[in-house]
Amino acid sequence: FHDYPSLSRILVVSTISGGGLIAYSEANASSSNNGVETGTRKKKVVLLGTGWAGASFLKDLNNSSYEIQVISPRNYFAFTPLLPSVTCGTVEARSVVEPIRNIGKKKNVEMSFLEAECFRIDPGSKKVYCRSKQGLDNGKKEFDVDYDYLVIATGAQSNTFNIPGVEENCHFLKEVEDAQRIRRTVIDSFEKASLPDLNEEERKRILHFVVVGGGPTGVEFAAELHDFVTEDLVKLYPKAKNLVHITLLEAADHILTMFDKRITEFAEEKFNRDGIDVKLGSMVVKVNDKEISAKTKGELSSIPYGMIVWSTGIGTRPVIKDFMKQIGQGNRRALATDEWLRVEGCDNIYALGDCATINQRKVMEDIADIFKKADKDNSGTLTLKEFQEVIDDICVRYPQVELYLKSKGMRGIADLLKQAQAENASNKSVELNIEELKSALSQVDSQVKFLPATAQVAAQQGTYLAKCFDRMEECEKNPEGPIRIRGEGRHRFRPFRYRHLGQFAPLGGEQTAAQLPGDWVSIGQSSQWLWYSVYASKQVSWRTRVLVVSDWMRRFIFGRDSSRI
Ligand code: FAD
Repeated sequence: FHDYPSLSRILVVSTISGGGLIAYSEANASSSNNGVETGTRKKKVVLLGTGWAGASFLKDLNNSSYEIQVISPRNYFAFTPLLPSVTCGTVEARSVVEPIRNIGKKKNVEMSFLEAECFRIDPGSKKVYCRSKQGLDNGKKEFDVDYDYLVIATGAQSNTFNIPGVEENCHFLKEVEDAQRIRRTVIDSFEKASLPDLNEEERKRILHFVVVGGGPTGVEFAAELHDFVTEDLVKLYPKAKNLVHITLLEAADHILTMFDKRITEFAEEKFNRDGIDVKLGSMVVKVNDKEISAKTKGELSSIPYGMIVWSTGIGTRPVIKDFMKQIGQGNRRALATDEWLRVEGCDNIYALGDCATINQRKVMEDIADIFKKADKDNSGTLTLKEFQEVIDDICVRYPQVELYLKSKGMRGIADLLKQAQAENASNKSVELNIEELKSALSQVDSQVKFLPATAQVAAQQGTYLAKCFDRMEECEKNPEGPIRIRGEGRHRFRPFRYRHLGQFAPLGGEQTAAQLPGDWVSIGQSSQWLWYSVYASKQVSWRTRVLVVSDWMRRFIFGRDSSRI
């Protein structure tokens, strides 16, 4: 923000249908009428995307000097952490979605929505090019929208790693429609396996459910499916009891690798007891319509399946790929931003959520600068005290480095520090070679993980950016950010700082693993109740909160519904 001295206009891109297009034309007309800036015209912000990042930006923006144009192919926000529950009917699809117009409806902020997909961003002409599924009056489906400020929150797409047959034969679990499709397919499989004239082998194949990816989504889906089968479906399809089988394929040595070891071990043991076949070190190499080929510890095998759910992480959306190429970031996987969420090399464009990442290279350059500044006498060395101050400074500015230090310890730096402390515990003037320190720190570049692609990060970024937009004029006059590493003065805003609030892994059978800040781990039924309360409280509206809680109650009383509708 600090590089934008004039706050003339802001544009947010999102999508809308029908009436939204009318709203857009009016908004556009009013901006072209104003062609020349009068100083009284509202700042126009285009927001692309109505997911976690976009919705939290929209919800928290509270400044009447902006006109918000939202553009997204879906006119609702979806509470993705409950999608695995939708796949088995524990929660209904409509209980986890909220119309974006409800979220953006405010007394003082003017918001309009266009249901369309942005397929090209042109930073030169400050336009986004969009395509709607519905034709306009003249039959055209494409249009463009200009912006003053662009907020990109388009998320990511499922990653197939270009493995042959995955796109055509696997289910993904990213959108509400995916979850609904999976629910139908599971029930279809049970119906199909009940048809006459099938041999046992064929029935077994149809009832073999394969989950690829042992991350939180894959594990939660496998657990949900196991509960659905054992608690509900086998009562209605008793003959299927001994035929149904669930396999989880994971390329790494363990599932849930981002969790504490205790959770990983508990999950693997629980799945083992439940009869879920966890195959570790299994790389899928090819999928056809009936078999999945996987290499397990070097050995190739073909596994007949009835249904596959592919959940191996995220990839870049085509519109973001194209935009990254235009701005010289073609070799990256996500849009690089600085710590103020501004897209590097672009004016008035911000990116947040799964489509963006804070640039680590720049962080390392800044860290090198912090060292240089600390070395006041140009001796190329720092005292232990100076070094500790440098590290404190780095941690304040770069939470991702701090997170890393806290979670795992920074190998090179920690070793040097320990060595110096051991050698000279009481000698405050011990000298540490800056070059050595820098090279040890540079390991952080490869070791520090980008912020995780989670709803938590996306939502916090949306809130942060909304607050920055709200206070832009005020902070122009009274900057609140840190002193600039390069140049004079202060930054207008404090950089984005992620606060990790913990993570859950529901493991089925009313057992959940929770890893809370401070590496506090809890596994079992009590964490399941914590999970229920956190997810109920995090709902975006009272309507969805009531729906979700009543769905859980319905499931407790009547079980899950297995009608194929
Ligand atoms: P999204 O929420 O994916 O939103 C992207 C938005 O952009 C959507 O509205 C989309 O329609 C729109 N869009 C797409 N393309 C375009 C385009 N071309 N033009 C305009 N708009 C476009 N995270 C957690 O923290 N905890 C969890 O328990 C958890 N569970 C999950 C379970 C599942 C099944 C999944 C799929 C994800 C889960 N996540 C969880 C991850 C979390 O959902 C994502 O990190 C989060 O959704 C990212 O938010 P986002 O706003 O960047 O993207």
